[in-house]
Amino acid sequence: MRKRIPQHILELILIMTGLNTMKIGIIDLSTGKIGFEEFSFENIKFKNYLGGEGVVIDYLLRNMPIECDPLSPDNHLCFITGLLSATKVPFSGRFTVVCKSPLTGGWGEANSGGRFGPELRKTGFDSLIIKGKSKQLSIIVVMDNKIEIKSAEDLKGKDCVETEEALKDTYGKKCQIASIGLAGENMVLISGIVTDKGRIAARSGVGAVMGSKNLKAIVAKGNKPIYVADPSGLNELRKLVNKRINKGISPLLKPGLKASTAFAPWIRRFGIKNYGSMSPSNMIIEGYRRWGTCAGPAIAVETGDAPIKNWKGSYLDFPLKKSTKITGDNVTKYQIKNYGCHSCPMACGGIMRYSNENFTLEETHKPEYETLIMLGANLLNDDLGSIYQLNDYCNRQGLDTIASGGVLAFIIEMLEKKEIAQEQLGGLNPVWGDPTDYLAILKLITKRKGLGEVFADGFIRATEKFPTTSGVHIQNQALPAHDPRFSNSLLLSYRLDPAPGRHTPFMELMIDLAKFSQMFPELPKNKRISNFYCYHKTVSTLGLCQFSLLTGNFPVLEFVNLITGFNLSIEDLIMIGERILNLKHIFNLRAGINPLDYKLPSRALEKANHGPNKAISSKVERELIMGFLESLNWDTKTTKPNIDRLKALGIEEFS
Ligand code: SF4
Repeated sequence: MRKRIPQHILELILIMTGLNTMKIGIIDLSTGKIGFEEFSFENIKFKNYLGGEGVVIDYLLRNMPIECDPLSPDNHLCFITGLLSATKVPFSGRFTVVCKSPLTGGWGEANSGGRFGPELRKTGFDSLIIKGKSKQLSIIVVMDNKIEIKSAEDLKGKDCVETEEALKDTYGKKCQIASIGLAGENMVLISGIVTDKGRIAARSGVGAVMGSKNLKAIVAKGNKPIYVADPSGLNELRKLVNKRINKGISPLLKPGLKASTAFAPWIRRFGIKNYGSMSPSNMIIEGYRRWGTCAGPAIAVETGDAPIKNWKGSYLDFPLKKSTKITGDNVTKYQIKNYGCHSCPMACGGIMRYSNENFTLEETHKPEYETLIMLGANLLNDDLGSIYQLNDYCNRQGLDTIASGGVLAFIIEMLEKKEIAQEQLGGLNPVWGDPTDYLAILKLITKRKGLGEVFADGFIRATEKFPTTSGVHIQNQALPAHDPRFSNSLLLSYRLDPAPGRHTPFMELMIDLAKFSQMFPELPKNKRISNFYCYHKTVSTLGLCQFSLLTGNFPVLEFVNLITGFNLSIEDLIMIGERILNLKHIFNLRAGINPLDYKLPSRALEKANHGPNKAISSKVERELIMGFLESLNWDTKTTKPNIDRLKALGIEEFS
């Protein structure tokens, strides 16, 4: 009988071949010490989480002083790619940044696309964990299995486009850069990390953490082949998926797609909420290819999905003739070329040239739905040029456009209610629907000048200084451009996700679109929701774009099995996501946070003055939250995970 190779020997052999292994670079900016952890696909760490986020959080829970000040050297800033990153799997261009959030005080997380994540993985490092603080402004250069820390004083004050161009001049056009602008350098808590000259991992204040470490940028360039257990199988499946996505739509459906904005008032009148899931997936794909997320503003404004006038208004304040100005063709007519993240057949982004009588933006990224709503409808601003300009500024200086729109609306309402005075804003007078002073306010925030110093820290500090109820945030994180009164289950991710106040962890529409719930008809609705929530965590940890789920039956599981050579089931993927969700939640518990203490602002729950949104009663809110906690086996008071469930997940040591 053949003897089985002992596990540790097998592990060693696999690591020596360097193929089906994962490697994390661990960088201490205070000491300059660089280390790494490496493990193979056979390692339990890999099997528990499929690499990616889970392995990094596992490290943080073991090594990071979680009680630390998020802007201190003790915080760890992590750049994470996934199992599918840098492969040919469609939609595999996303990466995640995590840390302790200086904005919320708990788990911080932001996700972005582009080309940085895949390039990082090709360097031989799947993820980077960065701790400490550099004495002077520095960059980290990760190239071909090697990490170096270098001085970057010459980059001080440069915006992200200038930084990227300067670093590409030095390290070559093929390298990819993640950098912070002035907002991150000044530790503005609503700042993010920018790649691809304008894509941004924006949320949770990750840019401020990078700034607190005196880290201006990361340069990544590599050629390491990525292990795939069955390359020809993967190629076949990839071709099939791409063929379906490239198929286009029947000519009969084209007029319907073109007229979708005009249908918006009818969608509202008939109270149709799940219009996305009612549309054939090819029509959705075509809409994304044609417009990207900027297809959505007019429909979202009409139906009550989008916040208007700082969450107090409705489509009556921002009627169709205004919302169409910031929707679809009116936005994309400035497009020079399509833009797609790594290996993406849908390419929902765009590179634009915008010009009007006042300014020209030679090359800028297309404003996304969130930006168009938060800097548009939420401010009653239908001046598309101003949104282009504000978006470009945010992308260059590394400001979160969601939070920027939220804070601008906050300031406008405070001025209107005389809770602050124009003089306190240096004479600036931002008002609803007139963008004249919006950019100047964002500049004050970026530079922390005048009252910008206060608003740079989000909502809580400003509310302490000027008692007000005008801020729409949860735990200091601005609510994004989706109203939980339109889609009630969004309040689960706003209140209970480890990084609260974000829409991306859970979009109810996608439940239907992914045809996910139907896989578990026997389960109660709450369990189906939490299953999908966990599945979504797995999609993220793999480095996949959540829009892949919009395309209908995207074969996540099949791709994972072709890459790993495993024979996982959909239940395994849900369990992996559940482990990751639990670890992030435990991070918060260790930081002394119980998410049940988080409250949604009342205006995101109560009946709107006008418009289609109905109130979410406290009974409905409670039922949703309790159902979610129970189905995750979390205590309904303390939210502590049940120890038996942690044992079943194999992560009880973190209880
Ligand atoms: S669908 Fe859009 S955001 Fe997602 S990977 Fe493709 S280009 Fe990037």
